[in-house]
Amino acid sequence: MTPGPRLVLRARRPQGTQVALAPGLALGGRAFVVMAGPCAVEDAAQIGGAAAVVAEAGCAVLRGGAFKPRTSPYAFQGLGAAGVRLLAGAAQRQGLVAVSEILDAADLPAFEGIALLQVGARNMQNFALLKALAQLRRPVLLKRAASATVTEWLLAAEYLLAGGNEQVILCERGSRGFEPATRNTLDLSAAVLAKRETHLPVIVDPSHATGRRELVVPLSLAVAAAGLDGLLVEMHPRPADALCDGAQALLPDDLRELMRSLPAVLAAVDREPWRPAERRKVALR
Ligand code: PEP
Ligand code: MN
Repeated sequence: MTPGPRLVLRARRPQGTQVALAPGLALGGRAFVVMAGPCAVEDAAQIGGAAAVVAEAGCAVLRGGAFKPRTSPYAFQGLGAAGVRLLAGAAQRQGLVAVSEILDAADLPAFEGIALLQVGARNMQNFALLKALAQLRRPVLLKRAASATVTEWLLAAEYLLAGGNEQVILCERGSRGFEPATRNTLDLSAAVLAKRETHLPVIVDPSHATGRRELVVPLSLAVAAAGLDGLLVEMHPRPADALCDGAQALLPDDLRELMRSLPAVLAAVDREPWRPAERRKVALR
């Protein structure tokens, strides 16, 4: 029989783990944290424009992929290390912290200015990558694979904790289902279950879960109502021109609407949005 998860279990830390990304910015506490930005960093103007929108809307974290895991080798593969530098610079100028996906531990030197290292759905069981990130003692965002069970997801997180890294945030991003109308099927029950069963913060990515812009704001509000710790959403200044995932990218106005709608939903579950009043401290980190 496969030995089950141990260190991630809530019984190990009933009060829950808080993962700090910067002074004044932690996941797993009362504050609900929104991470937003384009699927991929495309150029300086695009990521700079996105960063300005993300900061102005009141989000805490700027996302942007630079090492992209694309299904086709002929699709845009990302700007690599140069893209990570553009992301880190754009985030810093706006007092944001950055999250970006790492595909290979050999690329770690490029991720110096990145507060949160994302392990994507396709790499959830890349055990060599998990073991390398376990050594780092840096925050890791671990996405659930499209066909992973909750136990497999928690065991992937267990690799990070077993190797000594407790700074782990879980992210549900939809499972492959039978419904062609959406890109994946958002498994909110799995996210709530992971939150109950582990002491780790849990967030949701409704962008990859649905593949459809118009579904992202309503499902984001459901995530907030479900008592989870935050969101990872795609937003592009001009989705029609996006090199990747344009159909699921929020417009700047959609992100503003989401951020205006969140406080009332969060108040109903005794939570509050992360406050940009803290941004100065983040910028001075
Ligand atoms: C992403 O967030 O850029 C991404 C590739 O997502 P996923 O790993 O969930 O497909
Ligand atoms: Mn994407």
